Amino acid sequence: MPGASAKNISRVLSLSASPDGFLLEAHPKLRPVDSFNDGVFVAGMAQGPKDIPDTVAQAKAAAAGAMALMGKGKISIEPYYSVVDEEKCAGCQVCISVCPYNAITLNERGVSEVNPAICKGCGTCTSTCPSGAIASQHYTDGQIAAMITEYLSSIE
Ligand code: SF4
Ligand code: SF4
Repeated sequence: MPGASAKNISRVLSLSASPDGFLLEAHPKLRPVDSFNDGVFVAGMAQGPKDIPDTVAQAKAAAAGAMALMGKGKISIEPYYSVVDEEKCAGCQVCISVCPYNAITLNERGVSEVNPAICKGCGTCTSTCPSGAIASQHYTDGQIAAMITEYLSSIE
């Protein structure tokens, strides 16, 4: 059984969990101690039942992963994150409630603001904003429409 605090940890750190409540790694073979949330690692019984040697090995891998990140001193992020048009934003906070990564906050001007370092560019906020105030960089409606138009013209 997962620990009693697993659910709370998963909620606070925006981590995915399996249906039985254990925290999920990003990939069982290629990224066994990474979570889907960059900079957060999963190891030991939080991820599932395992013996002590496996737990120790995973913990060391997680520590090495964290050290590798910090050792760089500088983090590069993907350019695919959402941005808010402050002129259109009504401050309704719908986007804040749906963002699975807690990447959006309401700023001092009463409008939403996306933290690019946390945003994963999933697009959930852009599809739910009633004011059309959020757009995913490089995937705006205009850019997608242009791609569709171009594709359709190429197959005519
Ligand atoms: S859902 Fe849209 S209008 Fe509402 S706070 Fe977010 S960006 Fe602003
Ligand atoms: S694109 Fe996804 S992760 Fe980024 S702010 Fe919107 S809902 Fe959150």
